Amino acid sequence: MTDAITVDVARLPLLLTELRLPTIAKLWPQFTERADREGWPASKLLATLAELELGARAQRRIQRHWLEARLLPGKTFDTFDFSAVPMISKPQIMALAAGDSWLDKGSNILLFGPSGCGKSHLASALGAALVENGYRVLFTRATDIVQRLQTARQNLVLEATIDKLDKYHLIVLDDLCYVRKDQAETSVLFELIAARYERRSLLITANQPFGDWTSVFPDAAMTLAAVDRLIHHAVICELNVESYRRRTATIRQRQRVTLASDTKRDSNSDTAYGVTQKEEEPSKA
Ligand code: ADP
Ligand code: MG
Repeated sequence: MTDAITVDVARLPLLLTELRLPTIAKLWPQFTERADREGWPASKLLATLAELELGARAQRRIQRHWLEARLLPGKTFDTFDFSAVPMISKPQIMALAAGDSWLDKGSNILLFGPSGCGKSHLASALGAALVENGYRVLFTRATDIVQRLQTARQNLVLEATIDKLDKYHLIVLDDLCYVRKDQAETSVLFELIAARYERRSLLITANQPFGDWTSVFPDAAMTLAAVDRLIHHAVICELNVESYRRRTATIRQRQRVTLASDTKRDSNSDTAYGVTQKEEEPSKA
């Protein structure tokens, strides 16, 4: 059969473009030349080019997933200080960042804590790790997605819109408690929670405990039904620490005060270094 094929090498760039193999289209001249030079078997050349195409395809996919995820810039595990939240187990979080079984089961993560304690940073860092591991994530403010779903309901496409969100293994709903039932009819949020129950995961951050979620959902029964579904399979983390913002601001403030008093002392003494040294010397009692 192959004997019957007329091969025109000059058509190769065109054929590769037609087959949507951009990486091979770019790299074949260099690799065929190398294969000729080094006497590669044809199968090695073919396998090498196929691997390169597949690798580049995976990279492009992750790149697309990065863009669609809308994670917070710079908020990754590299910049997250676990020592600031001693109640959070780093190994547990890192295990969640690998994905796998909890995402397959559609389990949820709930992060509670006061404003500034690191909920959004941690959520974004988890999302980033999951994207790196090949999962699809959407990070959104809860108020934004409620608005989007309400528009969909008005246009009679709520179900289709929720179905489309299924492509995300994880949706982060940041600041759930900023959603207000009096501002908007928020049963759309319940629809989303119910649709994803035991199928697709949610990560919710909230600065108020469950007891106060009645301000989010239209009535107490719906609040209970939503909470029930969310916590049935869930990891719940409470970051009960003082605001990281405030803490670092306090440290900076203290540093400024120390610096200011050092400067003052410096101007009063001949050798500032001598003063510091003296202070640091253990008392020779
Ligand atoms: P929350 O969402 O709980 O209100 P954020 O995640 O927005 O808090 O954190 C507030 C600020 O403090 C952000 O700039 C965040 O990067 C930083 N931050 C909070 N916790 C930590 C932490 N443990 N390590 C590093 N930065 C942190
Ligand atoms: Mg936040």
